[in-house]
Amino acid sequence: MSVVLQKSLDIYNIMSLTIILFEWVIHWLVFKRTKGLIGEENRNVKEHFRLIVLYLLLIAQDFCFSYIFWEQFRKHGNQMSDIYLILGFECIRILIKSIEECFKYHVSLFELYYAEQWLEKKFVFNCVSLVFDFMDMVANIRVFMFIMSRGALPIYLLGEIVDNFTRLATSLHALWKWRQFIKKLKKLKNVKGSDPDKSPVEGEEELPEIQCCICLHSIRSGKELSCGHKFHLSCLRSWLIEKVECPTCRKPVELDKPQENNV
Ligand SMILES: [Zn+2]
Ligand SMILES: [Zn+2]
Repeated sequence: MSVVLQKSLDIYNIMSLTIILFEWVIHWLVFKRTKGLIGEENRNVKEHFRLIVLYLLLIAQDFCFSYIFWEQFRKHGNQMSDIYLILGFECIRILIKSIEECFKYHVSLFELYYAEQWLEKKFVFNCVSLVFDFMDMVANIRVFMFIMSRGALPIYLLGEIVDNFTRLATSLHALWKWRQFIKKLKKLKNVKGSDPDKSPVEGEEELPEIQCCICLHSIRSGKELSCGHKFHLSCLRSWLIEKVECPTCRKPVELDKPQENNV
């Protein structure tokens, strides 16, 4: 046993393990920073520019590590120790994760600067997660099969693959449910209000000033519930996930009932 351990935990493996751990920490910090900036709706261009550059550097570096490993794997795969194989594939998984997070970050930036109240964002995110989870699973299965073909059973990877499957199934179910929910939400009556930042143009119909009771900002375009209360679509979306009732008068919302006056 100790011979096997000594063989698999030589200085190179320990170094690789340290590098991978360090890599995960760096990536985790960048992902956390992204969530922070997007969460607080920070529109500071400089901050975002810095983060985009950081993402590009990370992806370039992940790509180099993955490429070097892949070349080694193709040439000397059969002589590689299991731990080195797993660590090498971990580089590829980190690369996949970085591309996924970078893509999601850009989608969030698009929403932040151009498409306020974008309803389909969560749907797009779910689809992206689904694709990348699938790629992650394929990478795990690939290395699992390879190690199996050499007569060993990597239990750690088996756990990962089961986890991949569960995540994929959950994402698919969530995607379907979310789609149904959004479809129903879109059927609610549309309302338009005045824009407080713009002075009314002569000759154009003057719109009433409407306030959304959830976020307390004025509504330029929103939705009206059957009780007559009006909200932003995205505010209503977040609210209705928690409770299916009007946030103002607590009247139950019947999303299945067709609403009049759809535009
Ligand atoms: Zn609102
Ligand atoms: Zn109401």
